[in-house]
Amino acid sequence: MCPHFLLILIVAKSGKLPALLRTHWLPASLNLQGTHGVCTLILFSEPNCKTQDYANLERRHSPRQQWQYAPERRVVKSDAEWKAQLTPEQYHVTREHGTERAFSGEYCEAHEAGLYACVCCGTPLYDSRTKFESGTGWPSFTQPVQENAIKYKKDTSYGMTRVEVLCNVCDAHQGHVFPDGPPPSGLRLCINSASVQLVQEPQKA
Ligand SMILES: [Zn+2]
Repeated sequence: MCPHFLLILIVAKSGKLPALLRTHWLPASLNLQGTHGVCTLILFSEPNCKTQDYANLERRHSPRQQWQYAPERRVVKSDAEWKAQLTPEQYHVTREHGTERAFSGEYCEAHEAGLYACVCCGTPLYDSRTKFESGTGWPSFTQPVQENAIKYKKDTSYGMTRVEVLCNVCDAHQGHVFPDGPPPSGLRLCINSASVQLVQEPQKA
């Protein structure tokens, strides 16, 4: 039993950082015992995505720039209509900005080919070819199918500053985007399974 347990973990380059941030194994592996245990975790993160590019994401849909990323259509329904159409979990995640439990979603480890469409309005948002194994417990993509498929919004809930991802057609909450994804975009679109539905790509003649 160590009364003053001190752990300092320094990670200089964070291309592989997400693996270290898997909060599921981190607390369990530390297994701190003793009432005076202190754990100090110092992480020096170097995002794969250029910070400037990441900061510009939310500005894309600002009133000044949103015309460039305007969707081809809009779907607007009342809360009652969404509630009637969706399962309780889909409604909570997409219309109430909820988050499904990590590793609980049906697409977390899915590898089938196809397009992931918004579960609310059916608009294709992500391509399975841009899905990657992030180890976070949520489906992760490096980019949307096209730039105007989704929009980004600054999110300061829960004491964090994050960038929220929403369907650009119906405003369904999708998840968040982070600057630690793999090249070439350097982005990690962290998406709830409950927000999407896998549909097969149309057969090419
Ligand atoms: Zn939608």
